[in-house]
Amino acid sequence: MSVFTRRVPAPEETDYTKYRPLVREDFRECCAYCLLHEILAAGADNFELDHFHPKSIPEFAHRVNDFYNIYYSCHVCNHTKGRKWPDEKLISQGYRFVDLCAEDFSEHFREEDDGF
Ligand SMILES: [Zn+2]
Repeated sequence: MSVFTRRVPAPEETDYTKYRPLVREDFRECCAYCLLHEILAAGADNFELDHFHPKSIPEFAHRVNDFYNIYYSCHVCNHTKGRKWPDEKLISQGYRFVDLCAEDFSEHFREEDDGF
């Protein structure tokens, strides 16, 4: 079971920034990548809208306003990920970003006995 469940149907806007309240709600006020909650990051002002498939990469440019491509991200994760995306060679080797809207957390991470 995925960590995050996106609403259905997706809203359709021509300016993705209008999605912010809905994206924030879908991600339960947590970062899509590190799962940090807003409360632990000094509030929503430190969270941003990330394009999972980077809008600056030509093959994904058409997804700039695709609601399902907009992820709620803490500032650190958004700027670390930025426009990074694996090229075809890396993808063929299995490299990719974990998508917790589609994948089970336990497929990628394991909690130790001490809670970490
Ligand atoms: Zn994060």
